[in-house]
Amino acid sequence: MDAVVKNFPKTTPDANRPSQKEAEDAVRTLLRWAGDDPSREGLLDTPARVAKAYRELFAGYDMDAEDVLGRTFEEVAGYDDMVLVKDIPFFSHCEHHMVPIIGKAHVAYMPDGKVLGLSKIARVVEIFGRRLQTQETMTAQIARSIDETLAPRGVAVMIEAEHMCMAMRGVQKQGSTTLTTTFTGTFKTEPADQARFISMVRSR
Ligand SMILES: [Zn+2]
Repeated sequence: MDAVVKNFPKTTPDANRPSQKEAEDAVRTLLRWAGDDPSREGLLDTPARVAKAYRELFAGYDMDAEDVLGRTFEEVAGYDDMVLVKDIPFFSHCEHHMVPIIGKAHVAYMPDGKVLGLSKIARVVEIFGRRLQTQETMTAQIARSIDETLAPRGVAVMIEAEHMCMAMRGVQKQGSTTLTTTFTGTFKTEPADQARFISMVRSR
């Protein structure tokens, strides 16, 4: 699925960020909205903990995938076949309910003389995961950032994930998995490359 990708919005400048106290007050408001009492003993430290957890869970806003991928790549002599990193575990949060999305990403590219350090692919997945997301957008963002920085012959990204907003609320469908793909270049134009990517992802 090709989602429309906005220009990776570079993150809220620090000057526009609410203060720690404002964030903690907002958590207190939500606790009261849920029906609890933020002044009871067990909840006293919760707003500070939630604010701290948000810094970590949404650290992707302070990171730029293109910085991580860099502008210099290893030259390879002779290797021009698919590079696939599969089963990259990630978590994210859906932008509709701010509830976790938990899944795995599989990312492949066809090198054009240059390769990425393998750990960089997992880092890119992490950066886009640590933002509010839709799975479709995240899939396309990963593909696009690799496509634009490395300029390979093609990129394939598949994400399979469970959306807690579906499992815990609304339709309450536990265990259902959502699958999204983005293909560029040769993975888009050559059905054989696309099929090989899928069978390599599926092989155990
Ligand atoms: Zn949701």
